Amino acid sequence: MAELHIEGLERRFGSGKPALDGISFDVAEREFVFLLGPSGAGKTTTLRLTAGLDHPDAGRILLGGRDMAGIAPRERNVAMVYDKHSLYPHLNVFENMAYPLRLRGLTDADMKARIDRTSEILGIGQLLDRRPGQLSGGQQQRVAIGRALVRDASIYLMDEPISHLDAKLRAHMRVEFKKLQREFAATILYVSHDQLEAMTMGDRIIVLDQGRVQQIGTPRDIYDRPANRFVAEFVGEPAMNTLTCDLMQDGTGWKAVSQDFAVHLDVAWVQRHGLQNRKPGKVVLGLRPQHLTLVPSEDTGQPNVEDGRVYAVETLGSETVYDIEIGGTVLRLWSRRQADGRPLPAIGAPLHFRVNPQALHLFDAETGLALA
Ligand code: ATP
Repeated sequence: MAELHIEGLERRFGSGKPALDGISFDVAEREFVFLLGPSGAGKTTTLRLTAGLDHPDAGRILLGGRDMAGIAPRERNVAMVYDKHSLYPHLNVFENMAYPLRLRGLTDADMKARIDRTSEILGIGQLLDRRPGQLSGGQQQRVAIGRALVRDASIYLMDEPISHLDAKLRAHMRVEFKKLQREFAATILYVSHDQLEAMTMGDRIIVLDQGRVQQIGTPRDIYDRPANRFVAEFVGEPAMNTLTCDLMQDGTGWKAVSQDFAVHLDVAWVQRHGLQNRKPGKVVLGLRPQHLTLVPSEDTGQPNVEDGRVYAVETLGSETVYDIEIGGTVLRLWSRRQADGRPLPAIGAPLHFRVNPQALHLFDAETGLALA
């Protein structure tokens, strides 16, 4: 195992915007780190450069303290999970997984033990005698993961290895992947655009967008303290509500005033974030759907209780997502389903909700950087 150090990595294809615009990060030994970002963010490019399949225009990649410039892929001791099409069709599953181990001279007993353990966790233990052509697509993908994981590599590079599996298998694999990583004490850099994978499996997450690192932190950091508006809106399900507001102070205290309603801010909160010194002007208020609460109609008129109408309702088993219309604004609210079996409100029905002034986010309207 070895740590990965990436410094000022740049890669440009053609004359357009660079695919990587100077990214830097570290992956510690035995750490499970996610590269999370939307399509085109530069995630795969970063993995390919790390594996040595492509070369940076600038910047350095150090693996275990050794500069990888000019080092061929096979000499880097990185294991990359390719997709299922990279399996050898004429070899059975056992031999596909054994192939990289034989190259490294493992004894038969060691090889069998590793393959048995890995294939058991991946749920392919009963398929070891079959050839790839006799497996489903999902099974083939798990064999491809297994073939990378059985190896003793310095770092495992994974590019959306479970995104093609069905939802149930993905949920199973999220748990198993984490176990496998701990058990093998593996250092993993894992590319995904799926925040659920990153939030549930990652020790840390690197959020990438447009070839730049937007934030690096634990899943909690990224969710609770997004560094900017992009991260805030990208991470969290359903996505954070964002509203352009004026931040102002009047006789009743501090407020964030949007076109359709005003949120009264807590003075201690304002001071904690140094907002009292800010020039009046536009900010973007961020409200997570989970931080808005439905309240009974008796509570209207209280501070931070707003009146709206149901614009849409979506039920997801044990939870309900409401789109609530307040003037020209639609806010999303997430709620657990009422246990009393009351019917859902009809479209257009009045609805009241409270904004929790302790659970707000505020961003600079121009730069998008987090203010609070
Ligand atoms: P996705 O989630 O869609 O796979 P990604 O975050 O992995 O996206 P990359 O594949 O790294 O993104 O691509 C980053 C940018 O670089 C994109 O704009 C892409 O079109 C461009 N790009 C990547 N590889 C090449 C290439 N070989 N030639 C030209 N442009 C490329």
